Amino acid sequence: MLHQKGKVIIVGAGIAGLSAAYYLLKDGWEVCVLEKGDGSNNCSYGNAGMIVPSHFTPLAAPGIVAKGLKWMLNSKSPFYIRPSLNVSLIDWGLKFLRHANEKHVQRNAEAIRDLNLFGSHLYDELAAEEGFDFELRQNGILMLYQTKAVQHEEIELAAAARQLGLHTEVLDQHGVQALEPELKINALGGVWYACDGILYPPKLMQQLTRYLLTRGVEICYQTEVSGFRISGSRITEVITSKGNYHADEVVIAGGAALPKLASRLQLKLPLMPGKGYSFMHKPQGTTAMKHGALLLEARVAVTPMHQQIRFSGTMELGPANDRIYKNRVQGIVESIPRYFPDLKLSYPHDIWFGYRPCPPDGLPYLGRTRQYHNLSIAGGGGMMGLSLGPAFGKTIADLLSGKPAPTAIAGFSPDRF
Ligand SMILES: Cc1cc2nc3c(=O)[nH]c(=O)nc-3n(C[C@H](O)[C@H](O)[C@H](O)COP(=O)(O)OP(=O)(O)OC[C@H]3O[C@@H](n4cnc5c(N)ncnc54)[C@H](O)[C@@H]3O)c2cc1C
Repeated sequence: MLHQKGKVIIVGAGIAGLSAAYYLLKDGWEVCVLEKGDGSNNCSYGNAGMIVPSHFTPLAAPGIVAKGLKWMLNSKSPFYIRPSLNVSLIDWGLKFLRHANEKHVQRNAEAIRDLNLFGSHLYDELAAEEGFDFELRQNGILMLYQTKAVQHEEIELAAAARQLGLHTEVLDQHGVQALEPELKINALGGVWYACDGILYPPKLMQQLTRYLLTRGVEICYQTEVSGFRISGSRITEVITSKGNYHADEVVIAGGAALPKLASRLQLKLPLMPGKGYSFMHKPQGTTAMKHGALLLEARVAVTPMHQQIRFSGTMELGPANDRIYKNRVQGIVESIPRYFPDLKLSYPHDIWFGYRPCPPDGLPYLGRTRQYHNLSIAGGGGMMGLSLGPAFGKTIADLLSGKPAPTAIAGFSPDRF
């Protein structure tokens, strides 16, 4: 293949990095992805697989602080900030508090919606391409609630979603049951977001990797990026555990490691890893569940995928540690029969965990940086990083080709802190 545009080095083989590779390859770049692991398991594999234009509210939203403080007192709760004197965590917390207000939500809702809708559209296109079948189902997601308080909040949110042009339907108990006729649901009601969808992340990641490798993209595994060689305002080489790589353009898509990578360039990308767990469950007989669902009081995501159901949840914010907190997993397990009385699970054997890359204002980092003329950042997708992945990739490819970004990304600037 003729690469007329030069060589792009992408750091990280998660959904952000691989999507950037996919669109850059299509645009005629020579692409090389550097990945410190073996590419078989990062945050983009074990997540809930939801495509979520419904998530137009950044994590830093009003009310989340009070809720978070209440939840912190319960060891089985879905949200937890690990108390610590860690300087990055304190800095992150102060920035988070500054953004947890209505003005911030309103200012950014349209841009988040547009990036998510764009990502969803790109998933439709990708699923139609030969070699891809990642169990995409664009049939909406159910937000289920059991309490009046959450019902009230959710109906308000659905009204805001409708104002943003998203198709939502508020359903009573019969309505939600009618959408899932083969699975008994115990809920006061729910909101169905027709704009959302689900997919099976491992297949997506494996198929994307295969596509890239068979078309000449170099993916170097077990290759950890440790620094950069600079000349003036350009990065000339990426320094790794396996030698140096020449670069005309560099894209950093390192997931929760963005701050560490950025610090090698004296850039600040504040971010906390938000640990979450997931596990698969094979129900008796067939998987009758048709839609993805969020159990709102429990903050648990339920996704039918690959003839099984994936349950995921918890947000443990704090410096990464690879411990599995059994009480929190138990919290997920116990919540399931409360909403689905016929699904009784025991504590899972095989628990996956991953780190959502969470910027303090709940907005991604996407675009070029001011300081280095050939550096772009794609990441910080937080709870919606899978959903946004292709939109990250296409945006980066457009910017590197000198085109305008496909959606408004000024608020996502990597220079904003
Ligand atoms: C329980 C759970 C459920 C979730 N559910 C959803 C969902 O339903 N929908 C949704 O949209 N999002 C969801 N998410 C969030 C989503 O999974 C992430 O936001 C997304 O996968 C992040 O992708 P990424 O490419 O930015 O990072 P990653 O997938 O983490 O990839 C980053 C890669 O960079 C590599 N890397 C890091 N440092 C270096 C270095 N120095 N050198 C070389 N390589 C390096 C890492 O090894 C890694 O492979 C969920 C997350 C969790 C934990």
